[in-house]
Amino acid sequence: MTIRWIDQVQALPSLSPQLWSLMIAAGHSDVDPGVVAHGYREAEIVLDFRQLVSAELAELGVKHLLDGEPHENLPLHQAVVIARGCDIAVEFHCNGAASAQATGVETLSRAHNKPLAAELCRVTADVLGIANRGARPEGSGQHHRLAFVSDGGGIIHELFFLTNKRDLAAWIGGRRSLAKEVARVLADAVRTP
Ligand SMILES: [Zn+2]
Repeated sequence: MTIRWIDQVQALPSLSPQLWSLMIAAGHSDVDPGVVAHGYREAEIVLDFRQLVSAELAELGVKHLLDGEPHENLPLHQAVVIARGCDIAVEFHCNGAASAQATGVETLSRAHNKPLAAELCRVTADVLGIANRGARPEGSGQHHRLAFVSDGGGIIHELFFLTNKRDLAAWIGGRRSLAKEVARVLADAVRTP
């Protein structure tokens, strides 16, 4: 298992100290592409986003763990083990649906993570200009994704619907701005008692 520990981060002594450990993860893996639509693979989109958020977190002075080296996306069962050892863990996914109209961001988490999950939904809907489907309980999700919530205690962040062309266009235009905002939300969370 190659856990990537990002501890070369900016020193920002004026900010309150980091109180909680953090992991950010890319859903699926190098051998499981997740949703495939419009020429894109979910596993590659979320791996790219994990790296963007990681770079922003380092700028914000936040130490964190990743589920793999920069070009590596470890399988879920390994990500779950890492997540379980962290105070806050977020795994990025894209949603997919049979209906090309399905749109928006949502999260799946346990109740104690709901305030942070709701904030992740809010900034994602704002930055991408897509619907906010809200922070949902773990029971409302689909299939294998839930291990990260049920066994890892983490938050599943379903960024947008890859099956929706408008969502995808919003993503392509807004992903860098969103990485900044998601990192800011997480940086606040790890510094909040
Ligand atoms: Zn997924």
